[in-house]
Amino acid sequence: MTRYEPPTQPLEVSDGIFAWVQHDGTWWINNAGFLVADSGVVAVDACSTEARTRALLAGIRAVTTQPVRTLVNTHHHGDHTFGNYLFEPATIVGHERVRDGIRGWGPPRSAPFWTDVDWGEIRLSPPMLTFTEGVDVWSGDLRCEIRHLGMRAHTDNDSIVWIPERRVLFTGDLAFNGRTPFLLQGSVTGVRRTSSGCSRSNRRSWSPGTATSVHPRFSSSARTTSTSSSTPLEPDGRPG
Ligand SMILES: [Zn+2]
Repeated sequence: MTRYEPPTQPLEVSDGIFAWVQHDGTWWINNAGFLVADSGVVAVDACSTEARTRALLAGIRAVTTQPVRTLVNTHHHGDHTFGNYLFEPATIVGHERVRDGIRGWGPPRSAPFWTDVDWGEIRLSPPMLTFTEGVDVWSGDLRCEIRHLGMRAHTDNDSIVWIPERRVLFTGDLAFNGRTPFLLQGSVTGVRRTSSGCSRSNRRSWSPGTATSVHPRFSSSARTTSTSSSTPLEPDGRPG
């Protein structure tokens, strides 16, 4: 069993916006994020195990005493959702098929093609607030645009979280840093379209949902500048 080493601290990619970058980016090790405001914390994705999600929550508490009021799931995969229950009583938000996907997959289980995982205690906690196309949540005065992409890509329920005022993009697993996204439940055509949209976006920084070594990319992308605030995957005003 692989020994897990949690991140030492969250990475602040914009004022009050943090990425939680877990090394080493192999099976069941994802990236997450959160936004801090006086009104509370908006989190983007949980982690796969009890220990990894508790480490994320400790990372949040290291920078704020505000409670997590909202948790956004970018898609249904367990490395982003098995730890949802540890965020309760936060409102958990996701595309309607995220809820279906979590309930359809069921609890964690071993499989022949990934390493054993110490899950800890896991209780499924699917979103209780669902949407079909998109919804906005607010982190203080910052609008966070959660948008389903209107197509199958990594899964059939991928959403991005776009903060236009800061030009920060959380992609979920639509982007793996330096790797091809996992596509067994997805679509090559969909990922090509969504990846192209991400690349064209005028983001200041973006957080891929999986894989390590993103710090240099955060640093380099943080130096880019743009005046656009259009949603990156809506070049013609509509997702997809
Ligand atoms: Zn995934």
